[in-house]
This record gives sequence, structure tokens and C-alpha cells, in this order.
Amino acid sequence: MAKLTVNDIDLQGKRVLTRVDYNVPMAEQDGAMVINDDTRIRATLPTLKLMIENGAKVILTAHLGRPKGERVPSMSLRPVADKLAGLTGKPVAFCDQCVGQAAEDAAAKLEDGGLLLLENVRYHAEEEANDPTFAEQLAGDADVFVNDAFGAAHRAHASTAGVADVLNARAGQCVAGLLMERELQFLGDELKSPESPFVVILGGAKVSDKIKVIDRLLDKADTILIGGAMAYTFKLAKGLTVGKSLVERDKVVIARAALDKAAERSVQFLIPTDNIVAVPTEIDGKFAFGEHRTNDSENIPDDVEGVDIGPKSAARFCEVIAGAKTILWNGPMGIFEDARFAGGTFAVAKAVCEATANGAKSIIGGGDSVKALNKAGLGDQVTFMSTGGGASLKFLEGKELPGVAALTDK
Ligand code: AMP
Repeated sequence: MAKLTVNDIDLQGKRVLTRVDYNVPMAEQDGAMVINDDTRIRATLPTLKLMIENGAKVILTAHLGRPKGERVPSMSLRPVADKLAGLTGKPVAFCDQCVGQAAEDAAAKLEDGGLLLLENVRYHAEEEANDPTFAEQLAGDADVFVNDAFGAAHRAHASTAGVADVLNARAGQCVAGLLMERELQFLGDELKSPESPFVVILGGAKVSDKIKVIDRLLDKADTILIGGAMAYTFKLAKGLTVGKSLVERDKVVIARAALDKAAERSVQFLIPTDNIVAVPTEIDGKFAFGEHRTNDSENIPDDVEGVDIGPKSAARFCEVIAGAKTILWNGPMGIFEDARFAGGTFAVAKAVCEATANGAKSIIGGGDSVKALNKAGLGDQVTFMSTGGGASLKFLEGKELPGVAALTDK
């Protein structure tokens, strides 16, 4: 169901409570917290620009880290207000409370087109508990609720779902921001009837995290390519050996069921036929990988762990990707954080970008595939990169996200 967006409503002079995802990585430098990566802040600029230009009084609410209901100074959003002022070229007021008199006063002072950032909502345990009284306080005198935090939409918290309930009860409007709209468009509408061949690439650590996505996409995909540690659970399901590779033995049965479903539906389901393997060793009490080599066999010997897809598998995967018209990718092909085991992930990243240049639509489902693309300097060469990790997986499973369900239907 399509949701109302900021483009559909009158914002002039309205108090607009806006949930954004400013959960940015920070590090301490000379006693102050410094933002390491402002991608998430930049991602909200189109929505903010539109609201400012249309005369809204913008009240921003967000979480940072996991302070678990305590005021943890290193998790204050204050540095974000300064960064945002720099990026928008406009003053950004900051209130060191998110509810109560101080927050109400700060909101009352806002002029049309003004910006106010409230302190970390997770300083209050009531946020994650979705406490209705807290949601009421957070909603304050807002006329409109805008949710632009797709990355937090899979959680029914006070700032994602609770405030929407309050606004809905007051007959206020609850709408999607432009970033949220794009997420729903690409992960939802664009994948409803994807142009064929539709190639799904899945990797990462666990089958259990992605099995529901696999199951759902088996109804639509022409080919599913599996890499990462999850491939080894599929190897076990095929009766192959996996050595010391990371596996989920209790998920072998569901992996087998997915293979059977793929066969029934004539979905090509490829797992690596060769792998980069390494000897896991303990050095000075720390776990590390010793020598590594290519294991040119479907079976992995007892003494080694699979850490990446091998060159033959990478070439085969890239060949399939080159023929795709729609691509969905979630999860690295190996332990890409270690340069020795990043070859498969980077080969896939390059192939996805080349296919995109040749007219394919490529959708990157968040998390580590986004990190890998950015690390390879290819982040701008795909059609869409989701800003949500857990949220995009839940959405791809076909689940209704609480933060989306609460928005007003068109
Ligand atoms: P996920 O969050 O499920 O997408 O998993 C991403 C993580 O999976 C990354 O940190 C990778 O290092 C890890 N990973 C990928 N391939 C392997 C592998 N073969 N063995 C262990 N971990 C892996």
C-alpha cells in the first residue's frame, strides 16, 4: 500500500516531528566526540531541504547507540547538530532533552523553515518500550509526523510507531520522508515484478538471518547465488564436507528445503564450487588465520576453514550477474574485512556495477554489501543502496514494518 509522503501535504507553518536515522559512527578525539562517517546525515538532506523550503518548523528526533535508558555523554546527538548546521548552511538548534519543558520551549521558539534537533531518544527506557505516555510527550504539539528513518522502522519504538499512533489519534498526518519513500520504492515496488533475469546474490554469516528472504525470493528469482559462510550450511545440505568453516548445523534441514524448492521451481541455485580456505590458528591467545590457499574442490578438507568464494566461483557468479536485468545483493562473499579474503566480494561488486552500466537495475539490500561497495569506491555505481540493515531484511521477507505500517495510506 502506497503511503503519503512529505510531497503530498501542506507544510507551511506546521510543527513537523521528523524521525531520522542519525545513528552515525563516532570516535573520541581530544576529549570530544567526532563523527567518522556522515552518510546517514547527508541522506536526510533532501527531505530537510524540502521541508525548510516549504516553511515547516522541523523538530528532529533520533537515537544514537545503545545507552539503554541512561544519559551516556558519549552518545549525545550534540555533534550531529553542528554537522547538520554545516551541511544545511542553516542554524540548527539543539535541545539536550527530547521531552519535557525544555524540549517544548525549544520547539515553540522555532520559526517557519527552522531546524531543531532533540537529544538521543534512547536516553529514556520508555523509547524502546514504546511507552504511550512518553510517545505523547515526544509528539508534543506536532501537527505532522514524518518518518525518514527506514533503518529504525522495523522496531516498534515510541519514536517510530508510538508517536504515529498519537498523531493518528489526533487526526494529524503521518507521512514518509523522501529517503523512506525511496527505500519503499526500491525494496518494495521495484521488486514486485522485477524484470527478468532477476539475480539474487546472498552472502554473509548466517543462513538463519536470510532464509526467509531466500524462501520469499524463490518465488521470483531466476537465479540465486550464495556466498559467505551461509554457503557452507548449503554444502552440508548437499552432503559435501566443510572442514572448520562456520556453519549452522541446526539449519541444514531448512537449507535442504530451500534447495528442493529451487529445483521444483526451476530456479538456478548456485553455491561456490571452489573456495579460498585458511588455517584458523590461535596467536598470542587471539584467533587469527594462518596460511591461505585456493581449494579447487566442492569439498573442504578437515583442517581448514572456508573464508571466501574461489576464483572459478567468482567468475561463474560474475558471468550470471552480467546477464541480469534486475539484481538484488545482500551480504559479502567472504570475510571481506581481511584484504586476503575480499577478492570474491569485490569481484561481485564490480560485476554488479558493470551490469548496472549496461542497463540492469541493481538494488543493494543494506549492511555489509554497502560497506564493501563503498570500500571499493563503487557506491555511486549501483541503482540503489538501502540505508537499513535489519530493516531491509525484514522488509524483503515481506513483513510489514511497524514504522511504515503507522504511516497514512495514500
Ligand atoms: P551479515 O551481517 O550476515 O551480512 O554478515 C556479514 C559478515 O559475514 C561479515 O562480517 C563477514 O566477515 C562474515 N562472513 C562472510 N563470509 C564468511 C565466512 N566464509 N566465514 C566467516 N564469516 C564470514
